[in-house]
Amino acid sequence: MQESNFYVTANLDRVALRRRNSEWLAARLAEPRTRLLPVWRGQNLVREASAPAAAVLELAEAQALLESSVEVALLGLVDDIAHFAVDLSHLEEPPQFPGAHFTDLRSVGAIMAREEGGLLAYARGLMHWHQRHRYCGVCGSPTLSREAGHMRRCTNAACGAEHHPRTDPAVIMRVEHGGRILLGRQKQWPPGMHSVLAGFVEPGESLEDAVRREVFEEVALRLAEVRYHSSQPWPFPASIMLGFTAVAGNDAFEVDKEELERARWFTREELLASPEDESFRLPRRDSIARRLVEDWIAGG
Ligand SMILES: [Zn+2]
Repeated sequence: MQESNFYVTANLDRVALRRRNSEWLAARLAEPRTRLLPVWRGQNLVREASAPAAAVLELAEAQALLESSVEVALLGLVDDIAHFAVDLSHLEEPPQFPGAHFTDLRSVGAIMAREEGGLLAYARGLMHWHQRHRYCGVCGSPTLSREAGHMRRCTNAACGAEHHPRTDPAVIMRVEHGGRILLGRQKQWPPGMHSVLAGFVEPGESLEDAVRREVFEEVALRLAEVRYHSSQPWPFPASIMLGFTAVAGNDAFEVDKEELERARWFTREELLASPEDESFRLPRRDSIARRLVEDWIAGG
């Protein structure tokens, strides 16, 4: 079986039906085996031993944090043990923990156990949403966290709007024609990096139409066939990547210079021989882009 994409929370039970059960939640927050995952300004707490690992704190060692934290949100159960994300972003400096430090998950995600990376990504994404939704988008009054950190309600009684965590859908697509795939690069990417095309889904647009529109905008190619591949949470800061494979009607493309620096068709042999340096490198290893390219190289 094909391994899941990076940052998928495969072993987590989100127990969504428990989020409104305040007694159950209070019991979890008093239970010694409950675990906490601190987040500080978009960074996760990571232990660095022989390999990076999620720093999962025991309740006893983090009680003070829990009391000082701005937001606490239930992520779910792992092996029946409750895991909560705790936001410490109000602190000017990252709090210190022995043997661990706060870091950008993207710097270690590809070399961390998949399930741990998924949990950290979830914690980061949910805390980012809390940070950005402290005021009501309808009336501008402060909002307060509810439902174990999965909803924010406006404190203005006359408004009372409920805001739910959001994730922005983006399509990412591997375009193939005649035994080659099209890879492009954006100017701001790391030197040499090339990747498949991608873009955000617009309101009122189907995913398939978004794939066709983005490809046409970026390289003026019309697609003959569009198929769903797999998805990947990408909370950097708030996306989900929806992966597609597509076949172009022909190979005569034209790069839109606003969107891409350049693009080119590549054969399997060229990609297998990638020098992985400033002249050419594949997309980052933890990305669905890399998965789409590697699956194609492997004939999938
Ligand atoms: Zn409001």
